Amino acid sequence: MKRRGGFLLAVVLIAALIFPAFVGAEEPGLFDGLSPSEHNIFTIEQDKELNQQILPEITNPVLESYLQGLVDKLVEHVPAYAKKFEYRPIIILALEKGLRSLPGGAVIVPIVDLAEISSEDRLVASIAHEIAHSALRHGTAMATLEKEGVDEKDIIMLWVKKEAEADLFGARLLMAAGYSPRDTIKFFDDLVIEGKPHDERHPAHAARAQMYRAEMTRLSGKFPERQRTPAGELQKIRNLAGKIIMENVFIVPRAPGVR
Ligand SMILES: [Zn+2]
Repeated sequence: MKRRGGFLLAVVLIAALIFPAFVGAEEPGLFDGLSPSEHNIFTIEQDKELNQQILPEITNPVLESYLQGLVDKLVEHVPAYAKKFEYRPIIILALEKGLRSLPGGAVIVPIVDLAEISSEDRLVASIAHEIAHSALRHGTAMATLEKEGVDEKDIIMLWVKKEAEADLFGARLLMAAGYSPRDTIKFFDDLVIEGKPHDERHPAHAARAQMYRAEMTRLSGKFPERQRTPAGELQKIRNLAGKIIMENVFIVPRAPGVR
């Protein structure tokens, strides 16, 4: 019995050496330097209430469970301070691409982003970026500064910092969950090549690609790879989202929240 215990311990130790991430759910220090700003006049409860805003939501069990599955895989790896929120996807009928977030954990996904999924890794990176905004309480921290009358130009500059922070947090989160930032790097590289301008509240595309690239180099091989949704299943998700768009083509509301 004793010998067997010793053998099992040896197996666990070897496994721990091969897969360091199996030692604990979180890599120690993974989110070092990334925590919510202390300067926030809103309470955690208020963040949670803001999460309950009524949106023109699309309820579809297949799409919702697909997205919730991705969200849950990421949330497993958020640091302890971020676990107090309920992270959930909200699918909205919008044709303007780009995920958004609300304080308290709502990840807003325009239906068009599901109809046009190019890669699951890219979609997961977007979700991870939005989870970062909620986890780091960017929405209410910035609303605090606005209420205090901070100059609009400074607000914009601070948003650029927050967006860079959300990229960094998101890149670490998605890699901890076993996904790759490779397609996200390509996405931003392509925007640079196409000469697409970036909006003033975000870092330049090249800087964003560079940040994801640096994190990929740094964390590569540290976490076990995640099995992605099979191509056929992903096609069903696209088709279903496309069908919902076709059925509602005359209603196109504007997307709310922080991008
Ligand atoms: Zn953002």
